[in-house]
Parts: sequence; structure tokens; C-alpha cells
Amino acid sequence: MGKKVLCGYGIDLDAVSSWINTSGKGRADATDVSRGIFGATVGLDRVLKMLQKYNIKATFFVPGHTMDSFPSQVAKVHEQGHEIGLHGYTHEYVSGLSEEQERAVLQKSIEAATRITGKPPHGWTAPAWTTSPNTVKILEESSIMYDHSFMHHDSQPYYLPYNPDYIETDYSKKAEEWMRPMSALKDSSIIEIPANWHLDDWPPLNIGQGIGSGFIDPDVVFKIWKAQFDFFYRDYDSFIFPISIHPQVSGKAHVQLLQEGMINYINTHPGVEWVPLGEMAEQFKSGKLPGHAVQGGAS
Ligand SMILES: [Zn+2]
Repeated sequence: MGKKVLCGYGIDLDAVSSWINTSGKGRADATDVSRGIFGATVGLDRVLKMLQKYNIKATFFVPGHTMDSFPSQVAKVHEQGHEIGLHGYTHEYVSGLSEEQERAVLQKSIEAATRITGKPPHGWTAPAWTTSPNTVKILEESSIMYDHSFMHHDSQPYYLPYNPDYIETDYSKKAEEWMRPMSALKDSSIIEIPANWHLDDWPPLNIGQGIGSGFIDPDVVFKIWKAQFDFFYRDYDSFIFPISIHPQVSGKAHVQLLQEGMINYINTHPGVEWVPLGEMAEQFKSGKLPGHAVQGGAS
């Protein structure tokens, strides 16, 4: 049997939102804001041109703030046939939100996306891939079909389990109080197209945050991405390969060339198709694409 490989880009159009979500770390920096504007304009246009060149339809996860601040740019993404998914309003870190705030942010971003595309969005990815114990339940209540924030697998779709119950250690108490297993995992109706920090341009290639601080040789990143693709292609009959990028990073010249090199490499393999992440979820749901069953916990 031939291979079935669904590759895709999940493109976080954070623009200004991630820089003005200061999350308690002081005021936003005006130069960082200009980097966000670069992302929504120059960077986005370069990424769109690249997708057009390779005839790839992608998924853009767009914060509500970007939809409302750069409406003509986001409309262009939609008009070119790409999927629009959700990514918070002002790139809020969901792990720090109350349940009420998490619901309000999701609702407002659904409304902003619906104004642009004319129909409710199917997909969501958590800003910075931080989530809360309530996230899965809230996504279900909001009729979201798939998520792209969790990491139970790295190359197979699956039904996302609810957050299990577990006891965090509290060193002021007796050890017997926390020495318990987590509860049994139970699937939700949300399909997971898993997130993967090792297939993301931000940690190695963004200036000023995280490991490498943006000065990693793109050839090194190419090697890390290629090694994952090669392993999955060798060991699985079918797999998904969702690459996460940001126009303010991948819109930079040297990272553009990295992306083109990766697309060219992947395209030498039989069985490869480039699709939006929503299409991966649809194919899993309809049984056209096998996946994984997440297990664990004590009942
Ligand atoms: Zn983001």
C-alpha cells in the first residue's frame, strides 16, 4: 500500500496582538509592535506568495485583534482560499484566564472570524500553546471541530481527551496526600491535530525569546524538520505533518528560503498532499485517515 501523508501549514497571524499581551511583564515595546505590523503586511504578503507558488492551501490561525486591526489583509487570506481558524483575541495565555474570561475571548474571536468568512470557524489553536483544564469543555460548547494545541502524539490525529484529574504535589503536606494516579482519560468530541514545538519557526528563529534567540542557522532547523519527516515516512503508512509558522518570522528572507527548501524536499515523496488543518480533521472524522487512540489513567 502506498503512503498517505497530509502536510500543512498552521500559520499564526499574531501581528501586534502577541506584543501587546504583556501578561504582567511590563509595557509593550513600540519596536516589537512594528515587528507585528511587518508580520501582518510584508511578512503575510510573502507567505501568501509562497503558498500560491506551490499551490498550497493553508490554515491561518488569526487572533481577533488581528482580524479587527488588519481587516483587508485577513480578507485577502480568506479570498485566496485559505482556512481561517481562531487564536484568541489579544493572544491571551489561556492558562492564566478564568473560565469566564476564556469563554468571553473565544466568543468574541468566533464573532470576528464569522464576520470575515460568513460562517463559524472550525479550528482553534491556543496562543503560545498554553491551555486550561476547562479548554476542551469550552471548545465543545462552542461547536469547535478541531484543536491544534495539545501534544499527546506528534504525527497522528486523535480524539482529544478531557483534562484528567490529578493531585499536584504540596510539600507542606504528607506525601500520602499526593501519591495517587491520574484519573482515566475520556475522549471528547474534539479532533486533535497535534501541536509540535519541534515543527515551529518561533522557538529557533524569532529574535529575543527562548532558546537560540533567533540566531539558529536555518539549515539546522531544516535538519530537525527533515529528520522528523523521514522518521514518520519510514515508520508510518499514514501520518500528518502540520508545520507551525508566523509571518513575522517566516516572512523574513532567510526563513522564506528554509520554507521553500522544506516544501521542495517533502514534494519529492510519493503520497504527499498539502491541505489545510481542517481538511486533516475532516478526513480523520470521516474515516479516510487513520489516527491514534490516546490511553492512560486509572479508573
Ligand atoms: Zn501565536
